[in-house]
Amino acid sequence: MAMGFSRVPLLRRLPVSSPALPYSSSLQSNRKINISASLSTTEESTSSLIQDTPTRTRWKPMCLYFTQGKCTKMDDPLHIDTFNHNCSLELMRNAARLENLKQQEFEYFLVLDLEGKVEILEFPVLLFDAKTMDVVDLFHRFVRPTKMHEERINQYIEGKYGKLGVDRVWHDTAIPFAEVIEQFEVWLGERQLWRNELGGCLNKAAFVTCGNWDLKTKVPQQCTVAGMKLPPYFMEWINLKDVFLNFYKRRIPLSGSHHLGIDDSNNIARVIHHMLTDGAVLQLTAKRNPRSPEKVEFLFKNRIV
Ligand SMILES: [Zn+2]
Repeated sequence: MAMGFSRVPLLRRLPVSSPALPYSSSLQSNRKINISASLSTTEESTSSLIQDTPTRTRWKPMCLYFTQGKCTKMDDPLHIDTFNHNCSLELMRNAARLENLKQQEFEYFLVLDLEGKVEILEFPVLLFDAKTMDVVDLFHRFVRPTKMHEERINQYIEGKYGKLGVDRVWHDTAIPFAEVIEQFEVWLGERQLWRNELGGCLNKAAFVTCGNWDLKTKVPQQCTVAGMKLPPYFMEWINLKDVFLNFYKRRIPLSGSHHLGIDDSNNIARVIHHMLTDGAVLQLTAKRNPRSPEKVEFLFKNRIV
């Protein structure tokens, strides 16, 4: 196979000028920095999964300003040539494999893969269309810790994102969690996926995570730190590990180095694409008790603990 995802080196570093934002003119906009992103953190583990290998154009790192709706260089040919500004997975449609497709309970999957152990640093959500089996939209924000001193934040970001060359875009764009959630709700509303007035769960959509940590543990923790109530749409989710285990009777082969949440989300979306073409149905695997939300009910008998 030619130019597959599995042929992309795990970490590619391209020396490029990062996009300058109008409000960051004090930053050295023409400084050469390394932007790297991995489209293949599952390199070996899912190479057998991803067989629908399209003839791809040259791999480019995602523009991390664009993913957050903040790219100001869309008319700069050099910038467009250097960074990817298309959220689609660009997987080849294999007509023969579409025969296996099953009716899904949800029209959309919201693929979420948080980053940040102490506090959430990155909140990436891909909107995956179950019919077209592609990523049709995305919501991506870098998150500024709520209860951390400036000096500690700088160390934390240097350690986490410095080696990836994305610490500057983080500092340029990160906003507090409460603001991220406000903007996320506007984004959901614009896509008719949720309405505040109606409360409750999502409309036609469900979150998909890899493991239970993101929605069982981290989001409630971060809500407490930010002094917020847990938003109602975080009450249930699909843990892809459990669905995979029950469908293929083996563990999901996702492993390895996780760097940028947006890249990990892309990898999860590729696995979803593959599972759907194999005939899997993605159902909820976990639900919080509405009366005592700290209690989580797991809906599959066979699951990865
Ligand atoms: Zn851009």
